Amino acid sequence: MWYDIEYQNIIYEMEEDCKRQSPKLQSENLDSSECEFQRKENIMKQYNVGIIGATGMVGQRFALLLAEHPWFNVTTLAASARSAGKAYGELMENRWQLDTPCPESLKGMTVLDAVAQQDEIVAAVDFVFCAVDMPKADIRALEESYARAECPVISNNSAHRGTADVPMIVPELNAAHAEVIPAQRKRLGTKRGFIAVKSNCSLQSYVPAVYPLADVEDVLVCTYQAISGAGKTFKSWPEMVDNVIPYIGGEEEKSEQEPLKIYGKATETGVENAVLPRFTAQCIRVPASDGHMAAVFMRFAPGKKPTKEAILETWKNFSGPPQELNLPSAPKQFLHYFVEDNLPQTRLQRDLEGGMAISVGRLREDTQYDYKFICLSHNTLRGAAGGAVLMAELLCAKDYI
Ligand code: NAP
Repeated sequence: MWYDIEYQNIIYEMEEDCKRQSPKLQSENLDSSECEFQRKENIMKQYNVGIIGATGMVGQRFALLLAEHPWFNVTTLAASARSAGKAYGELMENRWQLDTPCPESLKGMTVLDAVAQQDEIVAAVDFVFCAVDMPKADIRALEESYARAECPVISNNSAHRGTADVPMIVPELNAAHAEVIPAQRKRLGTKRGFIAVKSNCSLQSYVPAVYPLADVEDVLVCTYQAISGAGKTFKSWPEMVDNVIPYIGGEEEKSEQEPLKIYGKATETGVENAVLPRFTAQCIRVPASDGHMAAVFMRFAPGKKPTKEAILETWKNFSGPPQELNLPSAPKQFLHYFVEDNLPQTRLQRDLEGGMAISVGRLREDTQYDYKFICLSHNTLRGAAGGAVLMAELLCAKDYI
């Protein structure tokens, strides 16, 4: 939804600011399209949004991120029939699990039933964020039902990640996959409605570091995943104190297969998965509250192994559309490399750049693979709600929403 705000003097200021910040504009003396874009980005876009699954762990993160968002106004909160009809503040009194308190602005909102009150929700929003714990078939049906009702769905759920015409976007890496949305709309018979998904939280640490490097053929990864990834805290999962569990149901398959969709190619009918790099993964639950760490080994194609310096340079210079478009949730520096041997650490680096940056360290040669390194990302921010908000900003900026 565009609000036609005629703040000409503000726009003038923005254009001047835009020209000052853009070397391209300075050198080529261009002034129209790029400034026009920044202007729309920064002043005019406002959207009404809903959170489906607002009472859950990811839903709470959405509530915090969206309550202060410059483009998105939360008009609707929804969950299961168990929560429907109650005020969000009252419901969350004993369920709020984050250190930052529940936003005051949302406390008085009555939570709706995401299934039974869909029409009411769709009428009140421009699009919805969705993070629910339901059987996969039910999530697929719920998300498609919203999309068919012309309500775009930005999803944290895994149900549609394997659907070829549903883009799975890490905005810095594969923003171009949004090009499959018209094919999905054709299948669904919609004009506006579509589903876009986030990838699993486990791979948000290692895929961003591997992706910018050319000719990687094999990746072996061990992930060390926080308990919030299971929607838990130490209070609700005391068995995790002083404990490590060497199994997370379904996680290793997602960690191996989802990267191939991210590396894939957008075609007229959907995303065609890549064949390389090959990923193999072990996923382990560790006693950290937030933050997924990964130990990564990678091998390049024969004769293509880069120097360590070249890898560090690639990471330092890597950015994507979120940085170019200056999206509100984009980290300034996507990949941060730490030279200290004991970094990154979960507690020290997970909140870097609002929990949206990826921390990398300990890059060194390996005796069996070419290189090994460590990386870390915040699983409920970059890996879940934050990543979804950034994807929504990208899709709004690109006029898919
Ligand atoms: P959670 O804390 O268990 O919350 C589940 C949410 O789903 C609650 O709001 C719940 O509402 C709602 N729900 C359950 N049944 C429903 C129904 N029949 N209709 C409508 N809403 C229903 O789960 P979570 O950790 O936030 O995860 C939610 C989703 O995000 C899952 O698909 C998960 O795989 C994915 N995800 C999680 C993470 C993470 O780090 N936690 C990361 C990436 C992706 P009630 O309160 O009313 O029951």
